[in-house]
Amino acid sequence: MNQITLGDVTVTRVWEYFGPVDMKPDVFFPGSPPEAWTENAAWLEPHFLDSQTQIVNSAIQTWLLRSGGKNILIDTGVGNHKERPYAPVWSHLNTDFLGNLARAGVLPEEVDIVINSHLHIDHVGWNTYLDGKAWVPTFPNATYLMPKRDFDFWNPVNGYKPLLGRGNQNVFEDSVAPVHEAGMSVLWEDSYTIDENLRLDTAPGHTPGSSVVTLASGSDRAVFVGDMLHNPVQIIEPDSNSCFCEDPAGAKATRRRILGWAADNNALVVPAHLGGQGAAEVSRDGNKFAIKGWAPFDLYAPAETAESTL
Ligand SMILES: [Zn+2]
Repeated sequence: MNQITLGDVTVTRVWEYFGPVDMKPDVFFPGSPPEAWTENAAWLEPHFLDSQTQIVNSAIQTWLLRSGGKNILIDTGVGNHKERPYAPVWSHLNTDFLGNLARAGVLPEEVDIVINSHLHIDHVGWNTYLDGKAWVPTFPNATYLMPKRDFDFWNPVNGYKPLLGRGNQNVFEDSVAPVHEAGMSVLWEDSYTIDENLRLDTAPGHTPGSSVVTLASGSDRAVFVGDMLHNPVQIIEPDSNSCFCEDPAGAKATRRRILGWAADNNALVVPAHLGGQGAAEVSRDGNKFAIKGWAPFDLYAPAETAESTL
């Protein structure tokens, strides 16, 4: 099952990529307690940590929401044919993401709203596709909701210069600007009400404009947290940041705040990059958090994905 229903909203997992991201835990999550990885290896492996190499495994996936008669995408992955010299694992991909989306029942022209939780390389990729030599919007009838603080942060007009070897080189130019220049973006600040079930709020730390989508429908709750956490170790060790967090103190504070809200409101926590069953319910555990249960999404199985969702 790659689809669940929460109140009046269906949530479908659409895969782009699953596998190693070329970093061991001490590099990806500097400062995370080594024992958190060794003591939990029995369940972290293989979905969140590769059993052989001890490299962190990540999913790149889009959460497709059907709400109020609209098709809504949360995050658009890495995209195809993008020039990413500082991230070879994601450079010049050629995946069947749009096929996976079609098998989930949605064609590009049927997407109404695209949400970029933040404007990192692996959250905006399918905003555009390569048409000849031009990057053009993939979803021609969509409104793209982008956090204004991230838009301003990476806009070269404001003087942003990526650090060599990491950062967001090319990303604004090939995946953000073409959408904005086509008049299809909404740059929102603070909060944005999508419909009666869904709301966007800023949750800064990972990036200045990082945001979460809160789903509240009937008695069901979920929060789509983007890169507020990449790995379930950050639930049980909520002060463990990724090496990509722009504001480490802010990232920790936001993670604790959102996980606390989710625990207190019985809300499913749905990050952008969890492998395994994709999302978790959490509870408070002293001044940390525990995993109460996993969502029922399918494990990654590329050969079966197409058939199971047809
Ligand atoms: Zn990410």
